[in-house]
Amino acid sequence: MGRVLFIGAGPGAADLITLRGADRLAQADVVLFDALTDPALREFAPTARWIHVGKRGHTQVPGSPGLPACDSTGQATINALLVKHANESAIVVRLKGGDPSVFGRLEEELAALALAGIACEVVPGVTAAIAAAAATQRPLTRRGSGRSVSLTTAMTREGTMRASRSADTEVFYMAGMRLAALSRHLLAAGWPAGTPVSVVSRAGWPDPLHSDHELLHLARAAMLHAGRPTVVTVGAGAAPLDGAEKPAAVHRTAHDPVPTVARTKP
Ligand code: SAH
Repeated sequence: MGRVLFIGAGPGAADLITLRGADRLAQADVVLFDALTDPALREFAPTARWIHVGKRGHTQVPGSPGLPACDSTGQATINALLVKHANESAIVVRLKGGDPSVFGRLEEELAALALAGIACEVVPGVTAAIAAAAATQRPLTRRGSGRSVSLTTAMTREGTMRASRSADTEVFYMAGMRLAALSRHLLAAGWPAGTPVSVVSRAGWPDPLHSDHELLHLARAAMLHAGRPTVVTVGAGAAPLDGAEKPAAVHRTAHDPVPTVARTKP
């Protein structure tokens, strides 16, 4: 019986994986990978069997035509695949975007493997919130004003939205398509209308986009970031630093982003 290694691929370009992650990946016989991982990571394990188990409904693996695609794979199917491959191969890698422990349904996969008596290891990765902070040069914590950070999904399991005010800086995942509703919920939860909000899509990739908003006008970010993985940072950690230069790789817009200007890269 083999082992399963959960590896955080980081939130974007392949070089954001950790050295430990790359080292473990190179040992893989089989790799079950998510849609948001860089196809360039294949070079770390060229002889392994790569199986796409993304949930984003891609019909083909981006940049890797011909790879076996398993569209919108259900969680139960992924759990079963992990157990099956661990029974057949020595090292099975479960490659997840960002960090496996952040909105990665790691708990369900670990539980399924524990039930089957299969040994596991988890290698951490850079989560999207951190990549967005780096891309925008906006530290998530601030001395004096930003003592706490929350990583939050505004969506409940039932598909309804829940948002509150629980930390000085709140980073919302999986909210890119519900920005107007997120803004309404946060205002109702007591965040002031002028609270700074920083929206970053495809952080860590070569083509990130960034826009700044006041909470009241957050919905204006929707068109700019449409169809791209997006994190929304609200509160202390979203505020620009005094006198900060515009980071070179990030397109910044003020309150009303103009997509045709901002999308200068593919
Ligand atoms: N485990 C991942 C999160 C998976 S949930 C991590 O640690 O980053 C998927 C959500 O993560 C997306 O809906 C989006 O909100 C966020 N996300 C993932 N990659 C991103 C990126 N490169 N830039 C911005 N947000 C990203």
